[in-house]
Amino acid sequence: MSLDVKCIYSQPVRVNLITAGEGRFQTRRYLSPSNDTRGNAGLIAVPLLITIQLRIKYFLNLKQAHAFTVNILGIETSCDETAASVVADGTQILSNVIASQAEMHSAHGGIVPELASRQHILAISPVIREAVVDASLSWPDIDAVAVTSGPGLAGALIVGVNAAKGLSASLGVPLIGVNHLEGHLKAAWLAEEFDVLRDHPEFPLMGIIVSGGHTELIVIHSHTKYELIGATRDDAAGEAFDKCARIMGMPYPGGPEISRLAERHPDLERLPRAWIRQTHDFSFSGLKTALLRRAEDLGLTDESRDVRLVAGLSHELQESIVDVLVTKTLGAAEAFDCNGIIVGGGVAANGRLREQFHRQSTLPVFIPPPVLCTDNGAMIAAAAYHHLMSGESSGYDLDVDPSLRLGKAA
Ligand code: ADP
Ligand code: MG
Repeated sequence: MSLDVKCIYSQPVRVNLITAGEGRFQTRRYLSPSNDTRGNAGLIAVPLLITIQLRIKYFLNLKQAHAFTVNILGIETSCDETAASVVADGTQILSNVIASQAEMHSAHGGIVPELASRQHILAISPVIREAVVDASLSWPDIDAVAVTSGPGLAGALIVGVNAAKGLSASLGVPLIGVNHLEGHLKAAWLAEEFDVLRDHPEFPLMGIIVSGGHTELIVIHSHTKYELIGATRDDAAGEAFDKCARIMGMPYPGGPEISRLAERHPDLERLPRAWIRQTHDFSFSGLKTALLRRAEDLGLTDESRDVRLVAGLSHELQESIVDVLVTKTLGAAEAFDCNGIIVGGGVAANGRLREQFHRQSTLPVFIPPPVLCTDNGAMIAAAAYHHLMSGESSGYDLDVDPSLRLGKAA
């Protein structure tokens, strides 16, 4: 255990700070981590010193501890963001620190797994430390450590899981392995404006996760019970945005750029919609092929592409994806008698998708603020809360599971 921690903390870095979001959602974002000699010894030494005190605290029964605030440190390293956050009682964000690698991967047109793992190793220590400092807490105030154990890139997940194990052991607090997809759904519980959802969630709710790696429809039966009813058969929605952006010469990640261009030039093109009737599944690879053919016809794959045509095709791509996502989710919510809809994952940051969900749904729709849609540690801490409260925790044999599913029957 200590060997893992030493490995991780042996390469300190300093990262450039950018602050995003407002008020409670203010998030510290770090870009382009660079080498530095800032020491991290305190990160290990302080927790070790307080271990004994905390063990006493945790021999008290959990219910008794629940009478006080429960602070969970959430760690997320499943893909290209190194993130850590402290969340109180599963809903209140005390800090939210994210070190993004997007710029680095952008140069390669997509995520390079080996580079992602190495960058996580560099960033994990300062990001965790910053999350605790930003929360104005000290190590003894952390009541549990939650970490994404899957799905995601194996080498990236390992960094977060090992850091979490080391912290949990040294602090003497429970370790909770979290399904990243559950985190995306639980992000909605972090939004203050959704007080109805926070105070009296009316299960079942229909959850749709739309991210770079996932497009999944999940019935949320309770805080800890999920049922997978539909998924993409090929590309995920975010993947379709990213691949199509690349075809048209845009950098990774393509979603934000496509949506920016789409606003400028409506209605020039027509692309297909893959409905795959009689199922709640999705498919986006046909759309990608259709866009490729059209882009070739219009000469958009050449260097001298016409920006106006790129914007027109971007608009229609976004319309096609949004159309299918909204229509199929509303249909599924009706079929499963759901009382509301939760939208999560990076693509949920898309303005057009948010607008159409609110416009077309007769059920309440809960979409967290954009900064909580993309990967972050707060959603991992939020997802861990109800598991912790029902007495669940992970052992130190917790392993990463790159293809972990949510709500799938065994
Ligand atoms: P993952 O969990 O799969 O790593 P995230 O949940 O962080 O992914 O989401 C990243 C994905 O979200 C990328 O595919 C990106 O293109 C997409 N995305 C981010 N913002 C937008 C947006 N405004 N419109 C469409 N897609 C977006
Ligand atoms: Mg994600």
